[in-house]
Amino acid sequence: MLVSPCIFCQIAAGDHLAVRILETDQVMAFLDIAPVHPGHALVIPKDHYENLLELPDELWGEMGQVCRQVAQALQKAFQAPGFNLGMNNFEAAGQAVFHAHIHVIPRFYGDGLQLFPQSGYQPGEMQEVGRRLRQALASEEEMGGKD
Ligand code: AMP
Ligand code: ZN
Repeated sequence: MLVSPCIFCQIAAGDHLAVRILETDQVMAFLDIAPVHPGHALVIPKDHYENLLELPDELWGEMGQVCRQVAQALQKAFQAPGFNLGMNNFEAAGQAVFHAHIHVIPRFYGDGLQLFPQSGYQPGEMQEVGRRLRQALASEEEMGGKD
Protein backbone atom coordinates (compact mmCIF):
# COMPACT_ATOMS: atom_id res chain seq x y z
CA MET A 1 0.00 0.00 0.00
CA LEU A 2 1.36 3.43 -0.93
CA VAL A 3 1.25 5.74 2.09
CA SER A 4 1.45 9.38 1.04
CA PRO A 5 4.22 11.20 2.91
CA CYS A 6 3.18 13.78 5.48
CA ILE A 7 3.99 17.26 4.16
CA PHE A 8 4.98 18.63 7.59
CA CYS A 9 7.26 15.62 8.26
CA GLN A 10 8.90 16.43 4.93
CA ILE A 11 9.33 20.08 5.95
CA ALA A 12 10.79 19.02 9.32
CA ALA A 13 13.25 16.71 7.54
CA GLY A 14 14.26 19.45 5.08
CA ASP A 15 12.84 17.44 2.17
CA HIS A 16 10.25 20.09 1.29
CA LEU A 17 10.82 23.81 1.01
CA ALA A 18 9.52 26.07 3.75
CA VAL A 19 10.47 29.47 5.09
CA ARG A 20 11.75 28.48 8.52
CA ILE A 21 11.82 31.05 11.27
CA LEU A 22 12.75 29.16 14.45
CA GLU A 23 13.91 25.71 15.46
CA THR A 24 14.54 23.90 18.74
CA ASP A 25 15.53 20.26 19.35
CA GLN A 26 12.00 18.99 18.89
CA VAL A 27 10.01 21.87 17.42
CA MET A 28 10.04 23.99 14.27
CA ALA A 29 8.26 27.18 13.21
CA PHE A 30 7.79 28.18 9.57
CA LEU A 31 5.55 30.48 7.54
CA ASP A 32 2.09 29.31 6.50
CA ILE A 33 1.95 29.24 2.71
CA ALA A 34 -1.54 30.81 2.71
CA PRO A 35 -1.37 33.42 5.47
CA VAL A 36 -4.22 35.24 7.15
CA HIS A 37 -1.69 38.09 7.38
CA PRO A 38 2.00 38.11 6.40
CA GLY A 39 3.96 36.51 9.23
CA HIS A 40 1.27 33.90 10.00
CA ALA A 41 3.38 30.99 11.22
CA LEU A 42 2.91 27.32 12.01
CA VAL A 43 4.59 25.65 15.00
CA ILE A 44 5.03 21.88 14.66
CA PRO A 45 6.71 19.02 16.48
CA LYS A 46 9.49 17.59 14.29
CA ASP A 47 8.22 14.08 15.00
CA HIS A 48 4.86 13.01 13.65
CA TYR A 49 1.88 13.32 16.02
CA GLU A 50 -1.53 13.84 14.48
CA ASN A 51 -3.14 16.16 16.99
CA LEU A 52 -3.08 17.61 20.51
CA LEU A 53 -4.41 14.41 22.08
CA GLU A 54 -1.37 12.49 20.85
CA LEU A 55 1.28 15.01 21.88
CA PRO A 56 3.45 14.22 24.92
CA ASP A 57 3.16 16.89 27.64
CA GLU A 58 6.78 17.98 27.39
CA LEU A 59 6.54 18.52 23.65
CA TRP A 60 3.30 20.49 24.05
CA GLY A 61 5.15 22.71 26.52
CA GLU A 62 8.01 23.25 24.08
CA MET A 63 5.55 24.12 21.30
CA GLY A 64 3.97 26.68 23.64
CA GLN A 65 7.34 28.30 24.29
CA VAL A 66 8.09 28.50 20.57
CA CYS A 67 4.64 30.06 19.96
CA ARG A 68 5.49 32.73 22.51
CA GLN A 69 8.82 33.50 20.83
CA VAL A 70 7.19 33.69 17.40
CA ALA A 71 4.49 36.01 18.79
CA GLN A 72 7.15 38.29 20.27
CA ALA A 73 8.94 38.34 16.89
CA LEU A 74 5.68 39.33 15.17
CA GLN A 75 5.30 42.21 17.61
CA LYS A 76 8.85 43.33 17.01
CA ALA A 77 9.09 42.85 13.23
CA PHE A 78 5.60 43.99 12.20
CA GLN A 79 4.44 45.98 15.24
CA ALA A 80 1.51 43.57 15.47
CA PRO A 81 -0.52 44.82 18.45
CA GLY A 82 -2.05 41.36 18.98
CA PHE A 83 -1.94 37.75 17.92
CA ASN A 84 -4.15 34.65 17.90
CA LEU A 85 -3.08 31.09 18.54
CA GLY A 86 -5.20 28.49 16.77
CA MET A 87 -5.15 24.73 16.51
CA ASN A 88 -7.51 22.63 14.42
CA ASN A 89 -7.85 19.12 15.80
CA PHE A 90 -9.59 16.44 13.71
CA GLU A 91 -11.40 16.82 10.39
CA ALA A 92 -14.62 18.13 11.96
CA ALA A 93 -12.66 21.12 13.31
CA GLY A 94 -11.18 21.91 9.90
CA GLN A 95 -7.86 20.12 10.29
CA ALA A 96 -6.45 19.67 6.79
CA VAL A 97 -2.89 18.57 7.59
CA PHE A 98 -2.88 15.69 10.04
CA HIS A 99 0.43 16.56 11.68
CA ALA A 100 -0.21 18.60 14.84
CA HIS A 101 0.40 22.33 14.36
CA ILE A 102 -0.40 25.61 16.07
CA HIS A 103 -1.18 28.69 13.99
CA VAL A 104 0.37 31.93 15.27
CA ILE A 105 -1.52 34.75 13.54
CA PRO A 106 -0.58 38.41 13.88
CA ARG A 107 -3.56 40.71 14.45
CA PHE A 108 -4.09 44.38 13.74
CA TYR A 109 -6.74 46.89 14.80
CA GLY A 110 -9.57 46.97 12.28
CA ASP A 111 -8.39 43.90 10.35
CA GLY A 112 -11.99 42.67 10.34
CA LEU A 113 -11.28 39.07 11.31
CA GLN A 114 -13.82 37.36 13.51
CA LEU A 115 -12.53 33.89 14.29
CA PHE A 116 -15.31 32.56 16.52
CA PRO A 117 -18.87 33.75 16.00
CA GLN A 118 -20.57 33.31 19.39
CA SER A 119 -24.09 32.31 20.42
CA GLY A 120 -25.88 31.81 23.76
CA TYR A 121 -27.48 29.21 26.06
CA GLN A 122 -31.13 28.42 26.76
CA PRO A 123 -32.13 28.85 30.44
CA GLY A 124 -30.54 26.03 32.49
CA GLU A 125 -28.55 24.69 29.54
CA MET A 126 -25.24 26.18 30.70
CA GLN A 127 -25.50 24.44 34.10
CA GLU A 128 -26.29 21.11 32.39
CA VAL A 129 -23.36 21.47 29.99
CA GLY A 130 -21.05 22.24 32.92
CA ARG A 131 -22.35 19.19 34.80
CA ARG A 132 -21.73 16.86 31.82
CA LEU A 133 -18.20 18.13 31.37
CA ARG A 134 -17.34 17.82 35.08
CA GLN A 135 -18.70 14.26 34.98
CA ALA A 136 -16.58 13.40 31.91
CA LEU A 137 -13.49 14.85 33.58
CA ALA A 138 -14.16 12.95 36.82
CA SER A 139 -14.50 9.60 34.99
CA GLU A 140 -11.33 10.37 33.02
CA GLU A 141 -9.47 10.92 36.31
CA GLU A 142 -10.81 7.61 37.68
CA MET A 143 -9.60 5.79 34.56
CA GLY A 144 -6.22 7.51 34.84
CA GLY A 145 -5.90 6.33 38.44
CA LYS A 146 -6.42 2.69 37.43
CA ASP A 147 -3.62 2.59 34.88
P1 AMP B 1 -5.20 23.19 9.18
O1 AMP B 1 -4.82 21.73 9.15
O2 AMP B 1 -6.63 23.45 8.84
O3 AMP B 1 -4.80 23.87 10.45
O4 AMP B 1 -4.43 23.92 7.99
C1 AMP B 1 -3.15 23.58 7.55
C2 AMP B 1 -2.39 24.82 7.24
O5 AMP B 1 -1.16 24.42 6.64
C3 AMP B 1 -3.07 25.77 6.23
O6 AMP B 1 -3.16 27.07 6.82
C4 AMP B 1 -2.15 25.75 5.02
O7 AMP B 1 -2.06 26.99 4.37
C5 AMP B 1 -0.83 25.32 5.62
N1 AMP B 1 0.06 24.60 4.70
C6 AMP B 1 -0.23 23.50 3.97
N2 AMP B 1 0.84 23.10 3.26
C7 AMP B 1 1.83 23.96 3.55
C8 AMP B 1 3.19 24.08 3.14
N3 AMP B 1 3.74 23.24 2.26
N4 AMP B 1 3.93 25.09 3.65
C9 AMP B 1 3.39 25.95 4.56
N5 AMP B 1 2.12 25.89 4.97
C10 AMP B 1 1.34 24.92 4.49
ZN1 ZN C 1 3.99 14.32 9.84
